Amino acid sequence: MKDPKTKTYWLETYGCQMNKAESGYLEYELQSRGWLPVRTPEEAQVVILNTCSVRKTAEDRIWGRLGFFKAQKKNHTFRLVLMGCMSERLKEQILNEAPHVDLLVGNFQKQRLVDVLEQGDGVPEATAVGSGRSARPRSHLEPAQEQRQASHQEVHLIDPGEYHFAERHSLSGFQAYLPIMHGCNNFCTYCIVPYVRGSEVSRSPESILGEIRRIQMPDSQSGQTVREITLLGQNVNSYRYHDRDGGILTFAGLLRRIIPVLQDRTWLRFLTSHPKDMSPELIDLIASAPALCPHIHLPVQHGSNRILQAMGRKYTREQYLDLVGRIRKTIPEASLTTDILIGFPGESEEDYVLTLELMRQVRFEDAFTYRYNPREGTRAFELGDDVPEKVKQERLSGVIDLQRRITREVKKDKLGRVVEVLVVGVSKKNAGELLARSERDEMVVFSGSPQQIGSFVQVRLQSLRGSTFRAVPAEAGRP
Ligand code: SAM
Ligand code: SF4
Repeated sequence: MKDPKTKTYWLETYGCQMNKAESGYLEYELQSRGWLPVRTPEEAQVVILNTCSVRKTAEDRIWGRLGFFKAQKKNHTFRLVLMGCMSERLKEQILNEAPHVDLLVGNFQKQRLVDVLEQGDGVPEATAVGSGRSARPRSHLEPAQEQRQASHQEVHLIDPGEYHFAERHSLSGFQAYLPIMHGCNNFCTYCIVPYVRGSEVSRSPESILGEIRRIQMPDSQSGQTVREITLLGQNVNSYRYHDRDGGILTFAGLLRRIIPVLQDRTWLRFLTSHPKDMSPELIDLIASAPALCPHIHLPVQHGSNRILQAMGRKYTREQYLDLVGRIRKTIPEASLTTDILIGFPGESEEDYVLTLELMRQVRFEDAFTYRYNPREGTRAFELGDDVPEKVKQERLSGVIDLQRRITREVKKDKLGRVVEVLVVGVSKKNAGELLARSERDEMVVFSGSPQQIGSFVQVRLQSLRGSTFRAVPAEAGRP
């Protein structure tokens, strides 16, 4: 039987890799302090939703989950925590419409959540609906302010304050997401991120190198070491750290400091690169440093200069194509992926066709494709949303179909090659098959044993299933 003093949690993470990294920190912190994850939310004393506000679809799903947990509160007692971008963007609405949320935590206070949960005797006091306590959610204050509040008082303040990077963002494991920056200064006109994450802050190289050293130590139980590190930022190319002696460390400079610290077999990746800030120095470094994976995620968003300008992307179609040309010339084996945003206000059929043409010209390995969604508070919100949903959907389908065709054509050219892959798990479709990723970020499946998860394997690419390669271990595949 479970010890009644056992502290249990259930964590759901929505949205970007930054959220995954911050949830990684939270799990590390919770488990270090004796909290246990549970198999179903019904078993948890604390349910935490780490939320996303980039698109309405993400928010709608989370509202759905809030409805589910509201019903759950009738059956059992637990604390419901809403954390992250939605707490920032919709705090008033949540305070008014979701009184079953017990605690609201903004993006700048995530690190204090465990302290708040542990206030009192260490086990969180549950707030049941109808318990007589304030049914409205509390949000997280500075301790001094909190002490001034009477315990029953409702507090509705989310204070941005200063962003502090956690010292560690993952539990043991062979893959790690590692934030090097927070926030964004670009204010693309459609995007909510700068409003909910604030201005860009670059993490100190000492803190980054410290985390890399820590996660490279073998796990005390499994003996596993990290094999792949992904550095994260909304725009890693604008990383700038001001040293005490007045020097400025750029992203390329940071990579140069990280590479010698990496153990022998570790892949280093980064996300996301804004095209306007991708320096020749960085391109040269990717070409020359074997630890850096030859994969660049380079969101273009659109192929029409008129729309790029309205989006505030600060590059033209020609400049983007020129950059792609330089990358391909310097790193011929590089794979390029992108984000495409269809249906921005004022987008004409001609603008859409220009986007298809750009895709044909670049021949991206893959693309994340999105339908424009107005976000209140952004500059594009003022422009209305004049592309009818039906047209947006048709254009999006056109973009998806074209990208599927290109992806298959580009990948067919690779069949017969031997590549190194990192085994990341068991295939969901076939338990006898392993799922792996190549340096170029291609998905590969092949027959193998789960013991190979977390190791590098040489495989020969034999065929394609959708956009996933089917492969055989290189020895077995030798003609
Ligand atoms: N920083 C990255 C960049 O510069 O491309 C993108 C980060 S954003 C969180 C991820 C993607 O969401 C964007 O590339 C964009 O395509 C999409 N996105 C952002 N705002 C959107 C909106 N209002 N509607 C639909 N998609 C959106
Ligand atoms: Fe959003 Fe643009 Fe910043 Fe990316 S660069 S997070 S799209 S504002």
